[in-house]
Amino acid sequence: MDTRTKFVLDESEMPRQWYNIIPDLPSPPPPALHPATLEPVGPEDLAPLFPAELIAQEVTTERYVDIPEEVLEVYRLWRPSPLFRARRLEKALGTPARIYYKYEGVSPVGSHKPNTAVPQAFYNAREGVRRLTTETGAGQWGSSLAFACAQFGLECEVWQVRASYDQKPYRRLMIETFGATVHPSPSPLTASGRKILEAAPDSPGSLGIAISEAVEVAAGDPQTRYALGSVLNHVLLHQTIIGEEALRQFELAGDTPDLIVGCTGGGSNFGGLVFPFLREKLAGRINPVIRAVEPAACPSLTRGKYTYDYGDTAGLTPLMKMHTLGHDFVPDPIHAGGLRYHGMSPLVSHIYELGLIEAVAKPQSECFAAGVQFARAEGIVPAPEPTHAIAACIEEALRCKETGEEKVILTAVCGHAHLDLPAYGRYLAGEMEDLELTSERIEAALATLPEHAR
Ligand SMILES: *Cc1c(COP(=O)(O)O)cnc(C)c1O
Repeated sequence: MDTRTKFVLDESEMPRQWYNIIPDLPSPPPPALHPATLEPVGPEDLAPLFPAELIAQEVTTERYVDIPEEVLEVYRLWRPSPLFRARRLEKALGTPARIYYKYEGVSPVGSHKPNTAVPQAFYNAREGVRRLTTETGAGQWGSSLAFACAQFGLECEVWQVRASYDQKPYRRLMIETFGATVHPSPSPLTASGRKILEAAPDSPGSLGIAISEAVEVAAGDPQTRYALGSVLNHVLLHQTIIGEEALRQFELAGDTPDLIVGCTGGGSNFGGLVFPFLREKLAGRINPVIRAVEPAACPSLTRGKYTYDYGDTAGLTPLMKMHTLGHDFVPDPIHAGGLRYHGMSPLVSHIYELGLIEAVAKPQSECFAAGVQFARAEGIVPAPEPTHAIAACIEEALRCKETGEEKVILTAVCGHAHLDLPAYGRYLAGEMEDLELTSERIEAALATLPEHAR
């Protein structure tokens, strides 16, 4: 086995195709439905929102999709990303386990999200679209899309959840630096926003509300399209470059993962890391356990219902069959903003139903403790989201310490925390609390699921 700490690929070794797992599954995921007719949505239903190429990728049955040369060129700014062996963390834990992490914090905005923002902007620009709209929470996705739009000469308009807009100015400033416009959501600029503001003028907003606003604006202007940073099949497709690179890097390391863990918000960094390994598992070449880790405050996989629900609060999106806490569910304001989405990718949900992955939920104080331990050992302060996966890695590594098992663990550190340091500040000051999520709150949110689609 290799004694190195860092496994890097040359630019020329970067994968040139994304991997679509759907044809390799025992059954395909259920289709998205039109909210009025309950018929599967067709390309013509999605055309006001997405360019034709992305609609095609959403339903493609091809195993591999070529990455356009223009996209590869932008990817080369930071890809291939490194795979690290966490030797210092292993030592600090005193574990015989071998821990590896794929680090996506090297991207221009410090997370995995540009992996899909760049191709989305590219296909829109190629089809003559002038402007993209989107939502953002803490600002990871907004800054990724703003960066990508700047690369391809598109205008970009971002609805940012009001609470983050007020409390976290730095990513908003990054979005504006890349040339995009930011509106706090709910905003008076859309019917969806005005409706919320009438009922609650001080609404802190939510991702679901911001999606409604961005979708409404895109649907009302033929030169504008909408871009989503997670959840959809084409987003997970683009993220598979993470796992494809990691597979090659594991070859360099001469090792094979026994356990793969990833954090899940909408499921994109998880799917991106895991799907290429799941292909190898389904083909019988490797046999890792695959585990999704979600926040206890927003546990769509472990406590949600697998049913058709809207992707947004106003009910403007197609109905998607997914693990959901209900489109009206508003999670407590935990620091892992990227994990505060009411639903889970339909593809990840389907794979969970098929029994191909496990899921666990973790409270944020345990996650931040893991993040601090990781930072002190490895020198990278992980974003609040991947601390969930790191906490699960550490838990498993300590189990190996008890049993003496030399398990090989892989995770993705899908972003760094340089713009989330106030969250670490609160943890270090002992001010972080874990609020319990009662079953009553989940039941109440599930009560407003779209009745007609069940
Ligand atoms: C957005 C985000 C997430 C959550 O989204 P997924 O689609 O589940 O990956 C996780 N980590 C980081 C760093 C993010 O920016």
